[in-house]
Amino acid sequence: MLADRTTLNQFLIEQRRDHPEATGDLNALINNVALACKAIAKRVAYGGIDNVLGPTTTTNIQGEKQQKLDVLANGLFLRANEWGGHLAGMVSEEMDVPFVIPTRFPKGRYLLVFDPLDGSSNIDVNVSVGSIFSILRATTPGGDAAAADFLQSGSKQVCAGYAIYGPSTMLVITVGTGTHGFTLDPQLGEFILTHPALSIPAAAGEFAINASNSRFWEPAVKRYVDECLAGRSGPRDKDFNMRWIASLVAETHRILVRGGVFLYPRDNKEPAKAGRLRLLYEANPMALIVEQAGGLASTGRERILEISPNGLHQRVPLIFGARDEVERIEAYHCEHNLADYDAPLFGTRGLFRATA
Ligand code: MN
Ligand code: MN
Repeated sequence: MLADRTTLNQFLIEQRRDHPEATGDLNALINNVALACKAIAKRVAYGGIDNVLGPTTTTNIQGEKQQKLDVLANGLFLRANEWGGHLAGMVSEEMDVPFVIPTRFPKGRYLLVFDPLDGSSNIDVNVSVGSIFSILRATTPGGDAAAADFLQSGSKQVCAGYAIYGPSTMLVITVGTGTHGFTLDPQLGEFILTHPALSIPAAAGEFAINASNSRFWEPAVKRYVDECLAGRSGPRDKDFNMRWIASLVAETHRILVRGGVFLYPRDNKEPAKAGRLRLLYEANPMALIVEQAGGLASTGRERILEISPNGLHQRVPLIFGARDEVERIEAYHCEHNLADYDAPLFGTRGLFRATA
């Protein structure tokens, strides 16, 4: 039955053969992460039967109401990964400070950063949710990681991935040799390589943005979306579809499988926040996954993977997907940084005064 199938484990071992110096620690760590994702998939699948839906009474460090599954998924990630001896520490969306590896376990050479349950506002309506993770090298292998050790630019990631709990459960990862998708065989309990070498087409016919924020957008974003909406009658000379799932994992997965561009840009809704999505465990892993599939990821002003982080839970604007579209959006940011944009479609000239 498996003759023409590659499991995640086989894939990782075959990748490692190209690096004779590798010890296998990274593979073992990725397998533990995959186990956490399988355990979360199982809880997600039982939904209302298992009484795991709905909110808790607590809020996390981001000030967001925690769902029961946020807390459950966080615990599953910690338990699956604390014991293996591969990690010097972990950072989670759900935890204010880094998780210290319990003293009864050995410490290792890597750091694990994760969003245990992404899109958790979608749980109650039975729309796809996911988990996102990023693996970095520990600054002090074998010791306890300090918070500052996690503040590495995304280009330093040795592995990034996400699981999506949809109609099927999938794991999509990169270890720097392309982006590859695996589907969980629920009977075998194995991830099977089903989507090797994912590739995002350079051009896009779909864009994804939360249009309810449009009055807060910067001129560059307003212009880009206006031109997409104008379709064949506008300067782009082609029609676009719009999508919005409000789940980063689901948006990324759609773009990897059939192309498009995603924007959660900087806006002036809450000027204190530079963006919505978190750099270390949302933007960075997705940026590496997208770049390894031939796409780009940007704040609109700089490449996501080159940002020097200044906080564990730092937020950034995130624009990613089709290469040509991201380059166009970056060019618009350049052009409109200091100038108003005359929005021809909606007659909103004057609303977007450049503040620089
Ligand atoms: Mn998230
Ligand atoms: Mn989350």
